[in-house]
Amino acid sequence: MNIEPQNKEPQNFEVLFRHSTFLVRYSAVQTIKNVNYFSNNKRCHGGLCPPIIAAFVVFASINSFAKTYKLRKPNQQSTINNHQSPTLSVSETFLSLQGEGAWAGWPCFFIRLSGCNLRCTYCDTQYAYNEGKKRDIPGLVDEWRKSRVGLVQVTGGEPLLQAETLVLLEALLNEGARVLLETNGSLALGNVPREVIKIVDRKTPGSGMEEFFLEENLGWLNQGDQLKFVITDREDYEWAREEVIRLCLSCYTEVLFSPVWGGPVPFQLAEWIIADRLSVRFQIQLHKILWGEKRGT
Ligand code: SF4
Repeated sequence: MNIEPQNKEPQNFEVLFRHSTFLVRYSAVQTIKNVNYFSNNKRCHGGLCPPIIAAFVVFASINSFAKTYKLRKPNQQSTINNHQSPTLSVSETFLSLQGEGAWAGWPCFFIRLSGCNLRCTYCDTQYAYNEGKKRDIPGLVDEWRKSRVGLVQVTGGEPLLQAETLVLLEALLNEGARVLLETNGSLALGNVPREVIKIVDRKTPGSGMEEFFLEENLGWLNQGDQLKFVITDREDYEWAREEVIRLCLSCYTEVLFSPVWGGPVPFQLAEWIIADRLSVRFQIQLHKILWGEKRGT
């Protein structure tokens, strides 16, 4: 990992120490000279004049400490080492509105990483299966910063397939971003930084990928995170409802029920949730209502 902590600037402490010791020593010598000079009641006759030197030393000390202090101010630039940064395979980056979950409606910068280990029946991002463009992490962080929105979502494909994703998440957090991670739930969440808001898919039978869910991942979710069920039909709904009740999922995280896009379910799903008084959040993909099934939205 090549990210330096923001306040790690040992060279500045060395500068401060060197400036301090040199100036203290130099001031002491000049003070002794001045004492001797005035005690002998002499005057300056050109050349090195002790009172002027003393004034110069005081000025130089203040200037030097001011410069040193300035050096120690927090770095406004990226804290990532640009020279040895790992790269990620990226499918696309774009600025849009967050279309799903608790952050729906907020402007959000998206980083879609390439590759996926699943093949859901309703997948709408098949273009992300293939190798994307290699991007270095400082470049991605800079692009997010230039987007001028605080919210960033790292998604896929399946973002946790690439080990370097964890470095990206850390880098974004270090730069002050509010970071969302959308993952398909099949890979362990244990190493994801605590501050990252996790949006985890719970694949239903209708996805064809139900068996790949890693149940231990439930242990990494808390109230700020979200567990998302994409519902394809009534059978899916009943299965998901039983999971919510059996594992008391709403007791410790936010549960989202989302109708599969383009299916006959949306209206019915809303009715089913109301009839069952189920403690879940109904959601619909806002970005698709606004822009349809279009890349980069
Ligand atoms: S996990 Fe997501 S990207 Fe992967 S196949 Fe399923 S829907 Fe597509």
